[in-house]
Amino acid sequence: MNIEKIIKVHDNPQKLIEFIKAITLKDRKIKIMNVCGSHEHTITFSGMRSVLPENIELVPGPGCPVCVCSESDIINAINLSKRDDTILVTYGDMLRVPTKIGSIRTEGKNYKMVSAPHEIIKIAKENPDKHIVFFSIGFETTTAPTAALIEMDLPENVSILTAQKLTPEIMELLVKDSEVGVDAFVAPGHVSAIVGAKAWKKFPEKYKIPTVVAGFEPENLLLAIAVILLQIKENQCELKNVYKGVAKEEGNKKALQLIYKYFQKADVNWRGIGYIPESGLEFKEKYNHLNTKKIFNLPEIKEEKILGCICDRIILGKAYPDECKLFGTVCTPRNPKGPCMVSLEGACNIWYKAGRK
Ligand code: SF4
Repeated sequence: MNIEKIIKVHDNPQKLIEFIKAITLKDRKIKIMNVCGSHEHTITFSGMRSVLPENIELVPGPGCPVCVCSESDIINAINLSKRDDTILVTYGDMLRVPTKIGSIRTEGKNYKMVSAPHEIIKIAKENPDKHIVFFSIGFETTTAPTAALIEMDLPENVSILTAQKLTPEIMELLVKDSEVGVDAFVAPGHVSAIVGAKAWKKFPEKYKIPTVVAGFEPENLLLAIAVILLQIKENQCELKNVYKGVAKEEGNKKALQLIYKYFQKADVNWRGIGYIPESGLEFKEKYNHLNTKKIFNLPEIKEEKILGCICDRIILGKAYPDECKLFGTVCTPRNPKGPCMVSLEGACNIWYKAGRK
């Protein structure tokens, strides 16, 4: 059967579900991982799991930017906000992420929330006697606007606390972990728009894992799942893109040029996971004057596991939110005990809000 033909013909959710049921191999469990909070949101809120064959497992992976931010970086951010000469600026979700000493919101002093990096320029101009620290977290999609901010005429009283992560590198860690046991990936559409669909080629070519780039509508995700299952049935293993309107093969060359003008790959710390080689971005040495870690000589703070929280296993696709004993009782979006309950992209938050208690 021709995969390209299915991509063209099957744009109807009901037809896609019927098609998936018809082609699914019944004699084996198939674990398909998404690595994007928005994909998990669509899958969970649409009830997709309940309409697919029982042996198809749709598992959320490390797709939530605030969930993977290291405890050390957050505690350093809290401590910076306690200084009288600084203002810490970051995205709203980051303010509520718990650590062993509390969150930025509960323990911080001078902090402000922004929805886009360029808002920092106004804050810096209004507070010329303060040092403005932008706590820049997330994957490739948030690194690009951070690089664009630096490219602007950045006031001298601004520096950047980087906690930028790279998606392909964490996926590579997952495929090497036999406990995860991924059979296929749905690759994130927004990240692909920056890094290009080609960034995922190594998964089918090197690791023999079918990978399909998908958007965020239920029918586009169903199409991606259909294309994956057809490949498995026909013993094929390729990279496919069903989100071609947004995610081009080469990605956004301008954004990538800007990112790698200021940053370089580095070994970085993932919450609950630890250091992964070349899995994040740090400033190049010549930009040390913009690097908060260098300016304030920030220490590495040892992470402590939150008692009862299994976010580390959920981020790695080894457990589902409702396997946590604290889920929906002690830990809720109003009172998050772990990072996965904080953000709209966190698997625990999504499952709780979708009523999967
Ligand atoms: Fe962590 Fe709360 Fe999720 Fe449990 S329910 S894994 S404590 S975030």
